[in-house]
Amino acid sequence: AGIINFCANNYLGLSSHPEVIRAAVEALEKFGAGLSSVRFICGTQSIHKDLEEKIARFHQREDAILYASCFDANAGIFEALLTPEDAVLSDELNHASIIDGIRLCKANKYRYKHMDMQDLETKLKEAQKHRLRLVATDGAFSMDGDIAPLREICQLAQKYDALVFIDECHATGFLGPNGRGTDELLGVMDKVTIINSTLGKALGGAAGGYTTGPKPLIDLLRQRSRPYLFSNSLPPAVVGCASKALDLLMESNAIAQSMAAKTQRFRSKMTAAGFTISGKDHPICPVMLGDARLASVMAEDMLNRGIYVIGFSYPVVPKGKARIRVQISAVHSDEDIDRCVEAFTEVGRKHGALP
Ligand code: PLP
Repeated sequence: AGIINFCANNYLGLSSHPEVIRAAVEALEKFGAGLSSVRFICGTQSIHKDLEEKIARFHQREDAILYASCFDANAGIFEALLTPEDAVLSDELNHASIIDGIRLCKANKYRYKHMDMQDLETKLKEAQKHRLRLVATDGAFSMDGDIAPLREICQLAQKYDALVFIDECHATGFLGPNGRGTDELLGVMDKVTIINSTLGKALGGAAGGYTTGPKPLIDLLRQRSRPYLFSNSLPPAVVGCASKALDLLMESNAIAQSMAAKTQRFRSKMTAAGFTISGKDHPICPVMLGDARLASVMAEDMLNRGIYVIGFSYPVVPKGKARIRVQISAVHSDEDIDRCVEAFTEVGRKHGALP
């Protein structure tokens, strides 16, 4: 029956969607293989401008700027925006690219405990002495599938006069009633100032990243953000993929809803089978196993049963919290989900993870 992939960030199945592939081929034929230039020299075509405009419209923001990756978007924002007089407050479990981006800036750095609002408030109080405060968090955390408490974060930001930045790589396209992301899910679209996200996961899966937010901020990034200024433009085929993916999502949220139903099916069947699944309602479904070796041998045995999953252990996750991270996609059928649960149940029993 072949091998079913349960470890890609292809949440909506758009990386193999025929219309997305066709759009890439058309863009390749019409606009060429690549620009051989950064954006501000001769690397801007109409499709780059159109995609930036579409991204801003999708997120209901004023403007957007493209990068070669979200890693670059995260590497380029903090240094451009913050001075030594400012402060950045970052969740301790933020993605490596946010951590690196913050390292590159000269602002005062505060790290608050993971999703701990008391600790964030303490740090915000300490940071009152600085000119500007920016709270930075992943919208959805990729190792645990947990979602940042954005309502509370935005309330604290309002109280202590801070801006909010979210990384939406594991949310854009599918979280919230219209797939706009964590800010839509939690009703704070008008309170989050800056969004960074990727085109390399739910939005077609090719590559690319972006920042979207207020126009003056995007203008500033075009002038000052180093990965934007000094790295090649996104190739037309990649732009074509992402642009078509956004069209599909703006037409209908049926794909996102189908993925949510399958996520629900997997989470409830696995829980009924006796497994502990971290997070809630997110297509990242970490099957918590604890022991690193157990996670690795179970993942191997899953592959023998045609299910492609990967075990994660220290240092990627804390010691004693090894897991197999399953990721659900809209392209999985109900039968695929059931096959995955059956394989987990067999393999779990064999290795003593289930009674
Ligand atoms: N931020 C988060 C939360 C991610 O999970 C990733 C990818 O793993 C990135 C940023 C980087 O995205 P990209 O692959 O577009 O560089």
